[in-house]
Order: sequence, then structure tokens, then C-alpha cells
Amino acid sequence: MTQELAGKVAIITGSSRGIGKACALRFADAGARVVINYRTHAADAQAVQREILERTGLESLCIQADVSVQAEVQRLFDQVMQHWGQLDILVNNAGIYRDSLLLRMKEEDWLDVLHTNLNSLFYCSKTAAKIMLRQKSGRIVNIASVVGLIGNEGQANYATAKAGILGFTKTLARELAPRQIAVNAVAPGYIDSEMTEGLSDSVRADVMRKIPYQRFGECSEVAEVVLFLSSDRCRYLTGQTLNVDGGMVMS
Ligand code: NAP
Repeated sequence: MTQELAGKVAIITGSSRGIGKACALRFADAGARVVINYRTHAADAQAVQREILERTGLESLCIQADVSVQAEVQRLFDQVMQHWGQLDILVNNAGIYRDSLLLRMKEEDWLDVLHTNLNSLFYCSKTAAKIMLRQKSGRIVNIASVVGLIGNEGQANYATAKAGILGFTKTLARELAPRQIAVNAVAPGYIDSEMTEGLSDSVRADVMRKIPYQRFGECSEVAEVVLFLSSDRCRYLTGQTLNVDGGMVMS
């Protein structure tokens, strides 16, 4: 595998499992030193760290931090800078959902989803941008969702947060472009992960009819696109959203 991220340091929020884990493994395969961040599942995060060491021999850091809390984000970035002294890539991946139709949605579920999926982006990107502006280089990739583009019944909170990520991505891309720092988004469709394993067979069948590829995506297929956006192969692209969705949304 090409070592296209050799010498780079990457923070991937929420990388103890799912899409974040796939990004951490793929980035390490490409030579990056990665930070595996998680909120609650320490054992899963440590397993990712062991897998990276076995596959690549590379050191990685496992850091617990709730990225929806500003002080914890600051501690996370401070630890990384103290240890490695640089930050080249931030993948804002951590996300949650609390689904229900709007009339039944509790305020707590609305706020939880906005806090985790949007505030984390504000805290992490702002902290990363300060470092990247000093370095005059960097990449930020935000994990959105096709639901932020087309909406979805039962996900008013999630769709609102994911749509917000797209506006944030374009704005930050404009603000950081003068220093050649790229900010892009990836919008996955339905991807096999813990987030989607609870879907009933009938919902799955219903969803499948909307996917031209007629299958759910794999976390590694999303990670490949995140890697491209984080690498030097991607040189003249910023403020964009790439849909990784088997053709579900075509514009
Ligand atoms: P997942 O399997 O549920 O994993 C979520 C990850 O985020 C876990 O590592 C979790 O860590 C972490 N996390 C959650 N809240 C956190 C917080 N406050 N601070 C730090 N870490 C936190 O999710 P996934 O399916 O891989 O999804 C990853 C991203 O892709 C999310 O933004 C999601 O919205 C987006 N996405 C997923 C799909 C899909 O079909 N799976 C589709 C479109 C978009 P702990 O377990 O330790 O809490």
C-alpha cells in the first residue's frame, strides 16, 4: 500500500468503531500516526490501537474525550500536540442519532443530536484550524449524511445537524482557503455499522429499493474517500461534499 500519509498526524473523532475505525485503519495503512478518539467504549478503541500496531508497526494514540464538550476537546488536542507536536488532518466523524417523528421528539433528543453532531464540529475544527493556520497546511473532512441533503422521516434532529455540517464545511473552506487548507465533507448513504444494524428487515428492504447499487455500503468504502480528501492526491478541491451512497442521491 502506498505510504501517502507518511509523516502525517490525524485525529479521527469517534474512531472506536464503524466508519471512524475504518478511517483510522486505512490512514495507518497509508503511514499516518492516528488518534483514536472515543467517548465510552475504551476496549473497542484499544482494540483498534492494537490492530494498527500489528498491521503497520505504527504508534497510535487512544484518547477518551466527549467531543461535544469544549474542555474535553481542548484536552484532546493538547495531548496530541504535546505528544507529536503537529496536526495535519482532522476527520470530524463522531455522530449519534435519536430517531422519532417530530411530534414525538423530546427536546432532549433534539438537543443531544445537535450538541454531538454540530457542537463537536465547531469545537474540533476551531481548535484544529488554529494549529493548521500556524502550520500553513492541513485537511479537514466532515462526515455528514445524505439525509442532510434529502431529509428522512423520523430524523428531523439528525437531518438538521447533517445539513448544518454542509453549510459549516463551505464556510470554513472559504475561510481557510487562503492558507491552502482544504475543508470537505463526505455524505455517506446507508452503511453497514452499529448505527444501521438495528434497522428492521422491512425498513432495510424499503431502503434497498432507493439504492441503485442495491446494497448497503461498507465502512471501508467511506474511508477510502476520506483518505483521498486527506491526501496530496486531492489538491484543488475544497468546500465540496462527496456522496458515498451507491447512487442514492444524484444531483
Ligand atoms: P457508530 O458505529 O455509531 O460509531 C460512532 C462513533 O462515534 C463511536 O466510536 C463512538 O464512540 C463515537 N462517539 C459518539 N459520540 C461521541 C462523542 N460525543 N465524543 C466522542 N466520540 C463519540 O457510527 P457510524 O455508523 O460509524 O457513523 C459515523 C459517522 O458517520 C457519524 O457521524 C454518522 O452520523 C455518519 N453516518 C453514518 C451512516 C451509516 O449508515 N452508518 C450514514 C451516514 C452518515 P463510543 O462508542 O466510545 O461512544
